[in-house]
Amino acid sequence: MLIIGLTGGIGSGKSTVSQYFAELGVPVIDADQLTRQLVEPGQPALQEIFEQLGHELLTVEGELDRAQLRRRIFAHPEQRQTLEAILHPRAREAAEQQLSVLRASSPPPDYVILSVPLLIESGWSDLVDRVLVVDTPPELQRQRASQRDGLDAEQIDAVMQTQVDRDTRLAAADDVIHNDSDLATLRKQVEALHRQYLQLARSA
Ligand code: ADP
Repeated sequence: MLIIGLTGGIGSGKSTVSQYFAELGVPVIDADQLTRQLVEPGQPALQEIFEQLGHELLTVEGELDRAQLRRRIFAHPEQRQTLEAILHPRAREAAEQQLSVLRASSPPPDYVILSVPLLIESGWSDLVDRVLVVDTPPELQRQRASQRDGLDAEQIDAVMQTQVDRDTRLAAADDVIHNDSDLATLRKQVEALHRQYLQLARSA
């Protein structure tokens, strides 16, 4: 079972690409989604966040106040590191567990997509056989991320600062999707890679 690590900056198009692979029947493990599950009420990681970053991040409903957390880590980069130290190892463990389940299924899939925004930055690269980068010009990234999330330019730039730059990401890529055109063009690139990955997996 081939493991393709999918990555790209904020607003580059990772979620859209993941969705296209999923529509082709490819299992997708999404680190962002795993992280969201880790901070659901009752999860040990959530308790640790409150203990280390403050109980004021707890809403009256007993949930994580995401908006406040986002503001907090924008203002205090060292708190972002604390948060990542709590979440990353757990997310990685959950991803490895899902990979084991897929590997043990019969038949196992030819390949899976492991989507990790910080694949290169946080040392998940050793989990994957190939790195697939969604490359998007920074201007388009900003525009798409702001339309999607309602973030302002300053907030988007703050996130981009925590991510490797475009050249570093491209240097780590085995395969690149260029997402500088329309969605139909994006889908065609995913379909071409799908054929390539199937061939690669079956010839291994
Ligand atoms: P990421 O997961 O990398 O942050 P998304 O896949 O959520 O990025 O894409 C960001 C936004 O841009 C989404 O609203 C998505 O629908 C839109 N988008 C992505 N690619 C294109 C494209 N080629 N043309 C138009 N909109 C796009």
